[in-house]
Amino acid sequence: MIELVDTLPDINVQPAEYKRLLGYPRDRVLDGRARELAEWARGWYAKNGKPWVYAREAQTVQLTNGSILIDGVTFASPKLQKMLHEAEAHGAILAAVSAGPELEAESQRLWLEEKPDEYFFLEIFGSAVVEHLMTMTGARLCAWAESRKMAVLPHYSPGYPEWEIDQQPRLLELLNRTAQQPLPGKVDVLESGMLKPKKSLIAVFGLTNHTDRVRKLTDLVACENCSFGSCQYRRVPYRRAPEFSKTESPSLQEELAIENAAGEPVKIATLTRDAKYAVNARALDRWAAERLTIATNDDGTIDAVFKYEGSTCSNMGRTIHFVYRLKLGRRDEGYPIREITCGPAPGDEGHRFMCRYMTNAEHLMVAIDHEKPLLGQSLNDVLAWQRPAMSPSCYCEPSSRKHKWGLVLETIHYALVKRETEIANLATTMVESK
Ligand code: SF4
Repeated sequence: MIELVDTLPDINVQPAEYKRLLGYPRDRVLDGRARELAEWARGWYAKNGKPWVYAREAQTVQLTNGSILIDGVTFASPKLQKMLHEAEAHGAILAAVSAGPELEAESQRLWLEEKPDEYFFLEIFGSAVVEHLMTMTGARLCAWAESRKMAVLPHYSPGYPEWEIDQQPRLLELLNRTAQQPLPGKVDVLESGMLKPKKSLIAVFGLTNHTDRVRKLTDLVACENCSFGSCQYRRVPYRRAPEFSKTESPSLQEELAIENAAGEPVKIATLTRDAKYAVNARALDRWAAERLTIATNDDGTIDAVFKYEGSTCSNMGRTIHFVYRLKLGRRDEGYPIREITCGPAPGDEGHRFMCRYMTNAEHLMVAIDHEKPLLGQSLNDVLAWQRPAMSPSCYCEPSSRKHKWGLVLETIHYALVKRETEIANLATTMVESK
């Protein structure tokens, strides 16, 4: 039996998913006040949210006349029953995820303070976190199941069509009763059947050895509704993927689907896992957590933003803030660097006190803007890229700027390797007993 407990789950909600839940059209670029509020809600949650994830394998699953028996508890859901029956499911995973109570308390406070905009964006971000947590739980289960020649069915919850919400207390009670470890956070069911904290979700994932059946019956394939862009096991494209990715590179999309549908492994160009970085691992770990934001888009491309803080060497050591923005291609392409920019952070004044800025501002800023190291190459190439080992913390000299680009690219490399390793080593994050 597997059991998964995670109190530090990934909360990197994909911008496209957040935008969808906010109700904006797919091609709308958030700007102005909307962008400010969206970024504020994401930042507030990163600082204050306490999300958690729990999942465990049920010991027994039986389908009887009109009901589903999980560990001896009866549930009635014609739709879930049909799914389990058609997939010849032999087991199930019970899962619970929550964005935590902090977000709910804050959004109530905002409402009482008559800040409806902030309230709305934070509430929706909470919903996006819950969706993301369940998606990523599904992704971890998929990786675990694939390595055992099994498949995970789409998750299903009380309150979904053909599963009455009044069965929610029963499922929660089962989750609490049979867990080897307690749920990482408190969840209650209100009389209405709703969960408290309301940004929580409990669900059942069916489990089958008949992977061929899952491929043939689209209803049984979770991938169509799964936004996990960098999944290496995807069987069918995500149905909400942006249109441009379907028209711009149809062959790649189809190629991925065909390879998977044929049951053959998708060719993956991975990053070097045991890389020898120029920067020490503790610094990379800290920067990855504190300065770097990585978002995976629907088409599998990656947006990375790194916030650098340094100081001028003279003029009383003024603090300078620079922002690095990169767009990387998909994992299976080897994360090619497609776009790369660096410039002072909005509102930064410190850079105006750098020596070279004071002597020839335009020359310095043009040079910073034009330098795009490793553009078009794989992110992995940073490991062999020759650059100065040390430099002052300003941007005056090309060698200083090259050194900083090295720090940024290594941090992104480190963070992506860590993410891939976490997914690949899923088995080690689960407590297994049998
Ligand atoms: S894309 Fe499919 S295989 Fe991959 S995590 Fe999502 S549901 Fe699982």
